[in-house]
Amino acid sequence: MIQLATNQWSEIASHGEQDYPYECCGLLLGRFAATGSKLVFETYPISNAREEEAKRNRFLIRPEELMRGEKYAAGKELEVVGFYHSHPDHPAVPSQYDLEHALPVYSYIIVSVRVARAEDLCSWEMEFDRSQFNEEEIMKGS
Ligand SMILES: [Zn+2]
Repeated sequence: MIQLATNQWSEIASHGEQDYPYECCGLLLGRFAATGSKLVFETYPISNAREEEAKRNRFLIRPEELMRGEKYAAGKELEVVGFYHSHPDHPAVPSQYDLEHALPVYSYIIVSVRVARAEDLCSWEMEFDRSQFNEEEIMKGS
């Protein structure tokens, strides 16, 4: 389970709308709770590092961007608990590419953006054997 405040929800949605028709991406900063759930305290937008023509299909976070985000999080005593990206004109369901590039434990939030408007927002966790993603419950905080 991942806990997301209403303003983080809208930050992810508006980042997806801004970058439409391209994919947006960013980090979810927060803490891993003892229960195994995640608490998100901040979103950290990252520009899409891919070439223009590839942007439509795939998101990528460069290692130096991830490191910058981790450093920023550490400064606030937070951790990277997951990632978010948008699916322009596609459902908020992970692609095969997403599965191949995911890591266990982290949350992967996907926002579906249709004609520049954010619709569904879902969170996913990959199985430890990397076989598939399972939808993760999102608890909306205030
Ligand atoms: Zn994707």
